[in-house]
Amino acid sequence: MSIEVSPLVDNVKAFLAQPRPFLIDGKWIAARSGATFESLDPATGEVFATVSDGGEKDIDAAVESARRAFDRGWAQAPGAERARLLNRLADLIEAHAEEFAQLDSLDSGKPISLARLADVPTAIGHFRYFSGWATKLSGETIPVSVPGFLNYTVREPIGVVGLIIPWNFPVMFAAVKLAPALCAGCTVVLKPAEQTPLSALRLGELIQEAGFPDGVVNIVPGSGEIAGAALASHPDVDKIAFTGSTEVGRKIIAAAAGNLKKVSLELGGKAPNIVLPDADLDVVADAAADAIFFNQGEACCAGTRLLVHESCRRELVDEVAKRASAIKVGPGLQSDTQMGPLVSQEQLDRVGGYLESGLAQGARIVTGGGRPAGLERGYFLEPTVFEDVEASMTIAQEEIFGPVLTVMSWHDIDDLVQKANDTVYGLAAGIWTNDLKQAHALAARMKAGTVWINCWNAFDPGSPWGGYRQSGWGRETGRLGAEQYTEVKSVWVNMN
Ligand code: NAP
Ligand code: MG
Repeated sequence: MSIEVSPLVDNVKAFLAQPRPFLIDGKWIAARSGATFESLDPATGEVFATVSDGGEKDIDAAVESARRAFDRGWAQAPGAERARLLNRLADLIEAHAEEFAQLDSLDSGKPISLARLADVPTAIGHFRYFSGWATKLSGETIPVSVPGFLNYTVREPIGVVGLIIPWNFPVMFAAVKLAPALCAGCTVVLKPAEQTPLSALRLGELIQEAGFPDGVVNIVPGSGEIAGAALASHPDVDKIAFTGSTEVGRKIIAAAAGNLKKVSLELGGKAPNIVLPDADLDVVADAAADAIFFNQGEACCAGTRLLVHESCRRELVDEVAKRASAIKVGPGLQSDTQMGPLVSQEQLDRVGGYLESGLAQGARIVTGGGRPAGLERGYFLEPTVFEDVEASMTIAQEEIFGPVLTVMSWHDIDDLVQKANDTVYGLAAGIWTNDLKQAHALAARMKAGTVWINCWNAFDPGSPWGGYRQSGWGRETGRLGAEQYTEVKSVWVNMN
């Protein structure tokens, strides 16, 4: 192992020193085929861990294990017991928080400061929040018009759920999916992203330590095409909860059609960040740079399209560009790093393709566009700002998923609304103004699941998250998030 490991805590060093097997039925086991894959450090391109590579047979075994655990009584366990275990798990993650921050920073490239501040606390927060719903998901009595009849509903766990997650917030997305599924009484098979399997596997160890019954949580890393597809098409899986690209979301829907399993989808975005002429440009410049460059722009909710009124465009572009060029880019594990490398060579090439396409279609790079000086290895890219962008350009339409801001201007409110909604996505939107009447009116016209007024990246496990249009199906988090893992049964009683 030639990477710099000295800053790693002992538990992380020990964890990385062995090939990491799957968690199936409470046991740690290698792939049936013996296959493994390697995890690369995006800051160097070097291998730092080896992980078992899930095939169809492994997914079968994991689904069988989850089915047995469901039938053995997890579904009927008192909500208070599920709540206790979820809280115990939250406490354990908190006690091992630095390990998760290091594993995710190393695996995905993200700044460790961000993992410490956002990813890990958010993961803990989801387990705590959904522990509360474990005792509160309830049905209703319905005032039916049939004389002498009682009708009531109960919410039952949906069954065995496949959880498929991306690489941009690894432990956080594991928690965002595990917590509501487990609180509702489902059992699960989790397939983390190939690029970032490690924190999910470490989480599996803490799930064991917390005392969850064997088989309630099974974790099988592997490729999307094989392990992910096997899970999505599995005849004994009752639901797939997926976070990832819109393109793969379509494949999940097709694969789920065989047994008509339920599907919830958190997909891509192309969020507009809207600036009205009265906004405080200093505040907006900071926020607009943060909205796009946090997590290297590898965020579904990244503020990728800055839609600024033409009267303040020049000033704001210059201010954002100044901030972009001042961002400290470096390895995620370096404590002063503000932006890390992209997750992989493939992602760097993909984003590079968008830079070429923007230039070819007539947009202009104000700052960035190249490899940062002094970072010769790894998948690094400078924070980049494009202006002279037209709404029809590929860079204004497609999700870039990298540190690339496209700036467009608008002249009146109808022009603004048209441009803001002019993509196939509908995940998030931001509005900056001191005119709150206008802000509420604009919020109503946004085709987006979340609208941030004078803020960006405000989240809470209690607040629903999900997309309009091609950004997804369903709402994760909040009461709706827990209910997504239940079926509603309507019971009629003839009292006559
Ligand atoms: P991705 O390529 O769609 O992959 C997501 C997950 O699906 C990975 O675990 C992947 O496995 C798996 N997968 C790939 N092909 C599959 C198939 N045919 N069947 C089943 N599973 C399959 O997305 P990504 O590149 O990891 O993440 C970036 C995308 O996620 C962006 O589009 C982003 O907007 C979206 N995202 C959305 C949200 C939201 O809340 N709406 C949040 C974060 C990210 P591999 O690891 O092998 O590829
Ligand atoms: Mg990796």
